[in-house]
Amino acid sequence: MATTNQVQLITYADRLAGDIPRLTALLRSEPFASAFRGVHILPFFTPYDGADAGFDPTDHTQVDPRLGTWDDIGDLSRTHEVMVDLIVNHVSSESEAFQDVVARGDESPHSDLFLTLSSVFPDGAKEEQLARIYRPRPGLSFTVMRLGGERRLVWTTFTPQQIDIDVHSASGAAYLESILDAVGGAGVTLVRLDAVGYAVKTPGTSCFMTQESYDFIGEFTEKARARGIEVLVEVHSYYKRQVEIASRVDMVYDFALPPLVLHALYTGEGEALVKWMRDRPRNTVTVLDTHDGIGVIDVGADQELGPEKAPGLLRQDQVDELVSGIHERSANTSAQATGAAASNLDLYQVNCTFYDALGRDDRAYLAARAIQLFTPGIPQIYYVGALAGGNDMDLLERTGVGRDINRHYYANGEVAEQLERPVVKALMALCTLRNDFPAFDGDVDASLEGTVLTLRRMGVEVPDAVAELTVDLESGAGSIELLRGGNAHTLEDLLGAHGFVAP
Ligand code: BGC
Repeated sequence: MATTNQVQLITYADRLAGDIPRLTALLRSEPFASAFRGVHILPFFTPYDGADAGFDPTDHTQVDPRLGTWDDIGDLSRTHEVMVDLIVNHVSSESEAFQDVVARGDESPHSDLFLTLSSVFPDGAKEEQLARIYRPRPGLSFTVMRLGGERRLVWTTFTPQQIDIDVHSASGAAYLESILDAVGGAGVTLVRLDAVGYAVKTPGTSCFMTQESYDFIGEFTEKARARGIEVLVEVHSYYKRQVEIASRVDMVYDFALPPLVLHALYTGEGEALVKWMRDRPRNTVTVLDTHDGIGVIDVGADQELGPEKAPGLLRQDQVDELVSGIHERSANTSAQATGAAASNLDLYQVNCTFYDALGRDDRAYLAARAIQLFTPGIPQIYYVGALAGGNDMDLLERTGVGRDINRHYYANGEVAEQLERPVVKALMALCTLRNDFPAFDGDVDASLEGTVLTLRRMGVEVPDAVAELTVDLESGAGSIELLRGGNAHTLEDLLGAHGFVAP
């Protein structure tokens, strides 16, 4: 079992295609079929359109009937590797189980499923213990609610509509087994442990990625593997912690890559990127964009220890420049969707499409994607990025949700229209090349000469297959050489073949 080393698409079923059967049809048609051999379908459980775009299911074991059925997921998994979210930290406040606890309090048979302050601190909590608890934004992780008529402090790491569960309680363990069974039964081979860093609460600690969290992930991974499923751990954190986590789990995201690629293309300086190419874990899923924002804590100093003791991959002034660089290139649209500007769940992320973060510069965008595709790991490309989409200011205005700037709904016919754009055609061609050329099963050689970055991949199974990418970080100009009696392509060639004329 091991996830195939081929490009995957990250998408909502509804926002790209309407529902799961139509998404399947799209993925089976060209150019998607050649470009993407796997798919991460963002939450399609019941309901898919709650307070946090599906990350707040009332019933995690059911496919929302408006999107399809488990059989539809099973059907898609016959032709594509399917990855789904396992939301292990919380369930919706609207779930039957929580509503029963609201009505009956501790008398409810479900009361051990949900965490309150007193389930973690039965003897009360000291100020310093509460102040240590880590959350992706300021403020405490509790919401005052009435349970069985009594006012209680309910543990809500994200929104008050997402109630944290006790993964170690009997009900919690049974709940997690039930969702594993549901996805395993549908042929899913890869699960994404959503927000798992927060799932285990250990009094007196940050309650984030502690030893107990590792133990939980280890036990959970065993259960998943027994069902033929691999586990991808979703944690945004200090890069050294990420390296440590990677050494202990199946796979992690490389969330440092997007800000490092932007930094390199903004400044022409590739040192931090090349250093990361050498040090980064290999068992990764690489991304430049996802349904969330562009993470910055992933390249910054350790928030607990500070820059003196635990410096980041970028200095604070470089991180600040990066953030203002995104705002500048996106004509300040990202600033309207980021931080305190919109109701954001994660203040440490910048909300912007990757295409807008590069000022809609096709050449720089393709250079960024080529760097991603040459970085070892399973590449995933978000649907808006696959179609080189810009920030959706109308949607942001309608919903007031910062992350919606990068969560466009593609209307009928719009996908076909976008597929005609030279930059999109070139990107699809790059993905196909990455899937089909046999040089990408080995490691990478990364080097820098002035502003010119070279990434070289060499086949393991086919040792004479070599693919070499050179990018001038200052201009974004680059070329890809494929050796093995193969052709040499430049990025401009790829664009040119689709009618693109360089500015
Ligand atoms: C997901 C977010 C979500 C959060 C809570 C994350 O890490 O990617 O979209 O808001 O978990 O489920």
